[in-house]
Amino acid sequence: MSENSAEQTTSPAQQQQEIKKSTLTTSVFIALIIGLGSGIFLNILISQNIVSTEIAIFLRKFIIGDTFGGTQSDIGFLSVVGELFINSIKMMIVPLVFVSLVCGISSVGDIKKLGRIGTKIILYYLVTTAMAVALALLVANLLNPGQGIHLNVEAAKFASQSAPDLAQVIINLIPTNPFDSMTKGSMLQIIFFSLLTGLAIATLGEKVEGIIRFFNRLNDIIMQMISIIMLAAPYGIFCLVTKVFAGQGIEMIKPLAMYMLTIVVALLLHLGIVYSGMLSLIGRLSIVTFFKKFYSAMMIAFSTASSNATVPETFKCVTEKLGVSRSVASFSIPLGATINMDGTAIMQGVAVIFISQVYGINLTMTDFLMVILTATLASIGTAGVPGVGLITLSMVLIQVGLPANGIALIIGIDRILDMSRTVVNICGDAVISLIVAKSENELDQAVYDNPNAGAEITK
Ligand code: ASP
Repeated sequence: MSENSAEQTTSPAQQQQEIKKSTLTTSVFIALIIGLGSGIFLNILISQNIVSTEIAIFLRKFIIGDTFGGTQSDIGFLSVVGELFINSIKMMIVPLVFVSLVCGISSVGDIKKLGRIGTKIILYYLVTTAMAVALALLVANLLNPGQGIHLNVEAAKFASQSAPDLAQVIINLIPTNPFDSMTKGSMLQIIFFSLLTGLAIATLGEKVEGIIRFFNRLNDIIMQMISIIMLAAPYGIFCLVTKVFAGQGIEMIKPLAMYMLTIVVALLLHLGIVYSGMLSLIGRLSIVTFFKKFYSAMMIAFSTASSNATVPETFKCVTEKLGVSRSVASFSIPLGATINMDGTAIMQGVAVIFISQVYGINLTMTDFLMVILTATLASIGTAGVPGVGLITLSMVLIQVGLPANGIALIIGIDRILDMSRTVVNICGDAVISLIVAKSENELDQAVYDNPNAGAEITK
């Protein structure tokens, strides 16, 4: 498409849309910042005994929710509103993945091209994850987060849950009952069933034209529903972020500050070097435009700590604001939420070094290679939900002979890191979608360059 289309003079209606669009994304950003501030404020009020015990109990029970280990009957306002928001975006995942994949795949029709796109996406996902672990190991070896740290390793107890084994993950790719997969939200199985449905529709062509039209309209409805739900994003984000920071023990953070810093540095380097490098060198796309248009999804990822819950917003940003075709994004985004977790892999790389240093166990070069391999594979079979990275970490630790109990040392502060690594996880999905789309002529450059593309609906 011509570059000019992006530069056309904007009509008053477009200008109005632009103002409204920025209003929503700005309020989401403001909500996040106020949430951070209020969370820390509540935390200080309670942990420093600034308020009386009665008020502290009231705040924990009725304002914050279960953060401080409250019982089931506690009704925390922040908890309830936050969960309402998460539920409403999660509600859209299964319909969105099914319908958008059916539409996306049936509109390509060329099986060879689909195979090529799929292979490219999966290869990019695996290679970037391996790079992420390698980068994490490098940064952690330079910063030595676990050196000179004295934590009570004897007391550390972590009930490790077994990570799914790879053979089972592969067998489970094909559902025996697609309705069961949909009720359970098993992403890979839904993807498989939707792919097959889309392919069948594509090969039947004109005969099922009515069905194609039906799915396309259904897709419009789903996208509109997501836009409506996103109107509540500022409130949801405020509650979720306030709750996390209100409950985060500052005392717990101190001994682990270096561990947290190492992860944050590695995450930023991965974003700033690997993804930005890929965008500009391979995709020849503006990095600034990417982050400007994608940050609403990044904020949802940060507050929910779940790539899965972010799928609707990631998909919306990538297709409507960044111009990736539905046929690429409908496959790459839900698949990426499940198998592409570079941020999680980075945490695992740093955690391996940290735990080995705290326990005083030396790792060899072969161990490092093993960590790269297992952390890459570990991300494949697990869903993008909060805390899953810690479960697969036990698999990585055991592989190199480190005690899985080491996880108990870092579990207390994991939520904040989970929020940060989820941002990187979804950025990876978006960047790779863009690069693959560009290489396959499935990227609308005019949409990418147009600052007004994908304006949100307004109240
Ligand atoms: N919460 C992350 C995600 O949803 C996974 C993890 O690192 O625990 O992508």
